[in-house]
Amino acid sequence: MKLTVVGCSGSFPSAESACSSYLVEADGFRLLLDMGNGALGELQRHCGLYDLDAIFLSHLHADHCIDMCAYFVARYYRHDGGRCAPLPVYGPEGTEHRLTTAYADTPTASSMSEVFDFHTVKPGTFEIGPFTVHTERVAHPVEAYGIRIEHGGRSLTYSGDTGVSQALVELARDADLFLCEAAFTHGKEDIPNLHLNGREAGRTAALAGARRLVLTHIPPWTDPEINLRDAREVFDGPVELARPRTTYEI
Ligand SMILES: [Zn+2]
Ligand SMILES: [Zn+2]
Repeated sequence: MKLTVVGCSGSFPSAESACSSYLVEADGFRLLLDMGNGALGELQRHCGLYDLDAIFLSHLHADHCIDMCAYFVARYYRHDGGRCAPLPVYGPEGTEHRLTTAYADTPTASSMSEVFDFHTVKPGTFEIGPFTVHTERVAHPVEAYGIRIEHGGRSLTYSGDTGVSQALVELARDADLFLCEAAFTHGKEDIPNLHLNGREAGRTAALAGARRLVLTHIPPWTDPEINLRDAREVFDGPVELARPRTTYEI
């Protein structure tokens, strides 16, 4: 698998990065995890506008899905006058309604479904293209999913947004790469069931036996070096900060 960080800023974009969005590729199949603010622009550095094969939305906070409205425009009002075939979109209950409402004025209430084929995510195991994926509810104020993606004997786990979560430990069990949010700072913010700090992300990786930890979703007002240091204190494996346009071979 190849993972490309399209955007990794948490909660709102930074000067350097779009919000959450990660491209996962294998066997020529392109799966996008989340499409937060600014992701659609950045995505075009990495693949053609119409080259995605599926999209997975971890939850419906704007920093994970709002560029789906822009992508609707690109697929529905193609410059050649045609419309794109429906692209599989996996998201929580109510994804189509939320995106339609966010767009505010789609031609009809069902216009989104002309270019997106919506699938409701539940906890479980299913196939997306060549990938076997496992989803579990994680600890966040809205219905939110962590996801484990397996292909060719390798595994990638993405936390989405979550507080401390045993389900996330299981999803990240022995993962070759664990892409984990670390939005909070240890000793500063302490709100349960919302986000992890660097220490909690590191502890989750240690409990899971993950092989490599990449910290992501760090907001512009959080010092990433503190979270990196905190994670390293509790996790012995390699830890680094996600940066836009970085790729990983998994
Ligand atoms: Zn978020
Ligand atoms: Zn969120």
